[in-house]
Amino acid sequence: MQDKVEQKSSMNLLIIGGAGYIGSHMVKRLLAAEHSITILDNLSTGYRDAVLGGNFIHGDVGNRTLLDNIFSEHKFDAVIHFASYIQVGESVKKPDIYYQNNLTNTQNLLNAMNAAGVKQFIFSSTAAIFGEPSYTPIDEAHPKFPINPYGRSKWMVEQILEDYDHAYGLKSVCLRYFNAAGADPDGQIGERHEPETHLIPILLQVASGRRERASVFGTDYPTPDGTCIRDYIHVMDLCDAHIAALGYLRDSNRSGRFNLGNGNGFSVAQVIGTVESVTGKPLLIDYVERRPGDPAILVADATLARKMLRWSPQYDGLETIVRHAWKFEQSHFIRAA
Ligand code: UDP
Repeated sequence: MQDKVEQKSSMNLLIIGGAGYIGSHMVKRLLAAEHSITILDNLSTGYRDAVLGGNFIHGDVGNRTLLDNIFSEHKFDAVIHFASYIQVGESVKKPDIYYQNNLTNTQNLLNAMNAAGVKQFIFSSTAAIFGEPSYTPIDEAHPKFPINPYGRSKWMVEQILEDYDHAYGLKSVCLRYFNAAGADPDGQIGERHEPETHLIPILLQVASGRRERASVFGTDYPTPDGTCIRDYIHVMDLCDAHIAALGYLRDSNRSGRFNLGNGNGFSVAQVIGTVESVTGKPLLIDYVERRPGDPAILVADATLARKMLRWSPQYDGLETIVRHAWKFEQSHFIRAA
């Protein structure tokens, strides 16, 4: 895809959390576009072998001295921040580490950027900032009442970013991912969470034989088939949105907040059907109680991102998302077994 960033000169970028799921796909995407990149990751949840190039630094975003050294050695055009803890349930049990990593460490990064005069920032936000939806699809005007420490930590950072823009002219784009899914179409990298909690990779682990069975959390939701509906957005489409956000920041020098999804909702039962048809394997499923904190329906209205970022998802079907994720599962885990 020819986009505005790639038509212009190469950028010098710092990618925090570039060894994680979305970060590693972004690194691959930026390398293909010949941007110059430095990756900072503490490898607490990421994988060194998922970083396919660039200048890798093993370290923690909470380490101010390290950040100051990195900023003194490089002149970055922008920073893209993917590093955070993402498990809602864990955030309820251990709010201390969520606020430390997602909030305090992010502020540490922003302060180091300020000191170094780096003025452009892209932040991985989440649909969890909205809490229980009061209407659907969810646009940017939807009330923000996050219902767990994970969502609150992300919403607090969004608010801090607004203040830093007013006070220091630090311009940011917050990208609120709905359900990130899929994998690199080449099958080189993909989703590897430990433990895995996300629906699609769990179902694929059952299909590949790494896991015996999967659970459906609740069948009594007010949806056509009783299971929850989510908006699954391909990880490469999220990467494209970051590329578009870099162009937006550079060209407009304005901050923005955008919801990112396809606008199509798929139920858990539909996802299971798609995984069974793509993999050709019937899956063993247990139907269990609802998981606390799961809203019935989460679907994005991404009209603003389409308009302002001139972004549109290329992989809007669930089948392609599952096919790419299955390619990764097969190449990495079936071969190794
Ligand atoms: N889900 C499920 N079984 C699982 C994992 C998830 O039924 O093993 C459901 C979950 O309740 C939600 C949907 O699948 O309705 C997507 O969950 P996921 O954890 O993938 O993403 P989330 O929506 O929590 O960000």
